[in-house]
Amino acid sequence: MTQPIRYKRNIEQNGITQQAQEKLFNARVLVMGAGGLGSGVIMNLAALGVGQIKIIDGDIIEESNFNRQIIHKYRNIGRAKVISAKDWVQEYNPDIKVELDKIKINELNYFNIIQGYDIIIDCFDSYESKYMLNEIAIRHKKILIHGATQGFCGQVTTIAPDKTGCLECVMQKPKNIKETVLASLSPVVNTISALQAQEALKVITGIGSPLLNKLLVFDGLTSEFKTLNYSKNPACSACSMTNIY
Ligand SMILES: [Zn+2]
Repeated sequence: MTQPIRYKRNIEQNGITQQAQEKLFNARVLVMGAGGLGSGVIMNLAALGVGQIKIIDGDIIEESNFNRQIIHKYRNIGRAKVISAKDWVQEYNPDIKVELDKIKINELNYFNIIQGYDIIIDCFDSYESKYMLNEIAIRHKKILIHGATQGFCGQVTTIAPDKTGCLECVMQKPKNIKETVLASLSPVVNTISALQAQEALKVITGIGSPLLNKLLVFDGLTSEFKTLNYSKNPACSACSMTNIY
């Protein structure tokens, strides 16, 4: 059950009905990564009242994380990010059930992790991991809310199985992709992560229009947003292969 007072301003002022708030509370969202994007996504999901959040990250907190990863506390350097993130959620909104797994996912270990979750939010910080997650989401027909930043720029899109193109339709996967961690700046990371959480809100409640076949691009240097339309590429090596699974 939702708490009327906690969610009063969600319900009264934003067109979110009691039923929509209940949908949020009954939703299960999988957050892949508890770093910069993950911090903002998790905090916003907790504030919205998403009832079950599963957080996946294999890293521990390091001092260099603190230019952007605002969910973690300096005193917790050396602790697992997933535990730190869970602690934050439970202090902020104790009604939310948090599951966690301190693991770096790969093609061999992901299967049990995604079971029971229909919405995955991509908060990874490298394109190698993002492309892998894109393929996993397509294979298992999960909604994938992609977000990425590079310095002052960022982007968001919502990829829905059988309805939209995928990450590789938008940006072809380079051959010999290497795990390169993307540059990240706190205001940009927090802008993009808030938009990812907003996408989850729209997908869960049915309110508004998620960024389906639309890539929202943000340029922090000029404070401009652009929306680029895309569509499923029949030759896409990721989503055009759906029928073989
Ligand atoms: Zn595709």
